[in-house]
Amino acid sequence: MIIDTHTHLYLSDFASDIDEVIKRAGDEGVGKFYLPAIDSAETENLLALETNYPGKCFAMMGLHPCSVKENYKDELNMVHSWLQKRKFAAIGEIGLDFYWDKTFIDQQYQSLHQQIEWALQFDLPVVLHTREAVQESIDVIKEYAGKNLRGIFHCFSGTLQNALDIISTGFYLGIGGVITYKNSGLAEVIKQIDLKNIVLETDAPYLTPVPFRGKRNESSYIKYVVQKIAEVKNISAKEVEKVTTRNAMNIFSA
Ligand SMILES: [Zn+2]
Ligand SMILES: [Zn+2]
Repeated sequence: MIIDTHTHLYLSDFASDIDEVIKRAGDEGVGKFYLPAIDSAETENLLALETNYPGKCFAMMGLHPCSVKENYKDELNMVHSWLQKRKFAAIGEIGLDFYWDKTFIDQQYQSLHQQIEWALQFDLPVVLHTREAVQESIDVIKEYAGKNLRGIFHCFSGTLQNALDIISTGFYLGIGGVITYKNSGLAEVIKQIDLKNIVLETDAPYLTPVPFRGKRNESSYIKYVVQKIAEVKNISAKEVEKVTTRNAMNIFSA
C-alpha cells in the first residue's frame, strides 16, 4: 500500500469527482490519504471528507502560514478548540512562507511556535510548509531539540545540506511531484538520501508531476513520484512503497 501523506482532496477542485479520484488512487495502490488543514474556511469540507472515508482519509488541524493574516489569533483559537475536541492525525500544515507575502512574518513565527507547543502538548506530529524559508524553519525546529518534536518537512525542495540538517533533527522529507521537474535539482539530492528518511505526498491539487504538470494533481499520480524515486535510487518501485509506507505509519499513529 502507498500512503499519500499530504493531499488536499477536500478542496472544491475535487467537489464534482471525489469518489472517482479516490477510486483511481485505490487502483494505483494508494490506501490512505492524510489531509492537511489550511484555515477555518475549509474545516467543514475537510472533516466531511474524513467522515465519508473512514479509515482512508485522516484530517490534520492547523493554520497554514499563508493564512496568517490580521485575524490569526482568532484562527489559532479555532485550531486550539478543535485540538481539545477530538484527535487529529497531525498539526499541519504549519510553517513559514516568505514567497507570497512578508507582511505577517512576525505573526507567522508566532503561529508556528504556538502550534509546535500544542503538538508537544497533544503528542502529535507536525507537518511543515516552508517556502523560501527552509533554513529559517530548520532553525525553529532545532530550538525544540530533545523535546520529542517529530514530523515532516512537506514538499521538501532544498539543498543536500538542508536535507541532511532536517534528517539530523529526526524529521522526514515529504517528496512529491517536484522530483519529476528537471530544473528542480531534487532528484540529485534524493539520490543521496536514505529511503528511511522519506515519505510520499502529492499536495494535490497542486504540484502535479510530469507527465501531467500544469493539470490538476490527484493522489493516483503519486505513482510518478514512486517511479522517479525508484529510478534515481536504482531500486524497485515496490521497495520505495514498502519503506515510505512504513515511515508514514511511524509518523501517524492513525
Ligand atoms: Zn504546503
Ligand atoms: Zn499542502
